[in-house]
Amino acid sequence: MSGIALDIARELITVDTRAGGETEAAELLRALFADRNISAAVLESQPGRGSVVAILPGGPEAGLLLHSHLDTAGFGKIEQWKHSPLSGQVDNGRLYGRGALDCKGLAAVHAEVMTRVHGLDLPLRRPLILLASAGEETGGTLGSQYLLANNDDIARCGHVLGEGGGYPLNDRSPFRYTVQTGEFGRFEFPTEDDEASFWKGLMKSPIAGLFQALWEGTYSPELYRHLMGQAFGLFPTRLDGKKIFTPECRWQDGVMIVDTPFSGEHWLRWRFGPDANAGKWTMPPPKGSSQNKLMDVLRDTLKKQGNSLVPHVSPGHSDNRHFRNAGMETLGFFPLSSGERLAGIHGYDESISLVSLRLATDLLFEIVCNFILGKKCLSVLTL
Ligand SMILES: [Zn+2]
Repeated sequence: MSGIALDIARELITVDTRAGGETEAAELLRALFADRNISAAVLESQPGRGSVVAILPGGPEAGLLLHSHLDTAGFGKIEQWKHSPLSGQVDNGRLYGRGALDCKGLAAVHAEVMTRVHGLDLPLRRPLILLASAGEETGGTLGSQYLLANNDDIARCGHVLGEGGGYPLNDRSPFRYTVQTGEFGRFEFPTEDDEASFWKGLMKSPIAGLFQALWEGTYSPELYRHLMGQAFGLFPTRLDGKKIFTPECRWQDGVMIVDTPFSGEHWLRWRFGPDANAGKWTMPPPKGSSQNKLMDVLRDTLKKQGNSLVPHVSPGHSDNRHFRNAGMETLGFFPLSSGERLAGIHGYDESISLVSLRLATDLLFEIVCNFILGKKCLSVLTL
């Protein structure tokens, strides 16, 4: 089992991008696109800090951006790695190395999706743009934020598929894939009294009913585990000695919305007006977008396969927040095969199975086609 995605992922992993140097990795992708007559450029915010942007032009509808990043976390203690972090070694059906999952594997998957769409040679009803950016691990100022401010093709995109979700919650078909719809914010209460009154109000809210249902064992074990993981974000924790509240939330139309997957495709939606904010956000949750065209296509594509989506808010921060804050519909979706171990993200012996690489490429290709091809073209494609 091999494809363009595996070859590119291996090449990208061999470039050390822990502390910059993304231009070298970006050039690998630019060369791949140039070979296939896909328009692509490497854009540097600073010397060596390059991001690659590739474009398939399309009709007047708002473009779809495939976003990944080329920089990686550090290696930690090198002796803890069984496979060298820069090796790109394939062993027993898995590709090893720093960035295999976060996020060079996804950059490679996106690159193959671009080349496959280009190969169809069909008119697109909206442009398809690939961005593999620099500087995500350090907040995005040298990559995504720089490009949002300086590149019209990216700024004009209305929809983004990025990292941050996609693993299935269960082991057997039908699969329930997570899709990242938001990221945690951090909220600080000024006084203990403010916090006490907040929790008093919370206990009267529908969320209290959710916890009750959980304790009564209404849900399957895997959904229960997922919900508990989500729920932990709803409890205040201590950071640097200060009490913080980390709800899963986003801003939409002036109110904070908390979406918690409740059961199957049902969400529990929980709203705060601005007056509910007794304290201050130390890290505000990103704004939500009121568009949901991409989400509809994702849901329909999975439904046709008999699978479904579980909206999910991740505790980590990624460049997705920059796109959300720019008003783009942004979903984190890097679909992986069931049983994928999510091994070693920011840890040791990071790896991805070759099965996941293939599944992600096939599924994202289908979703992208459903979103950017007109109906006529789609019927040509399926014939
Ligand atoms: Zn990442």
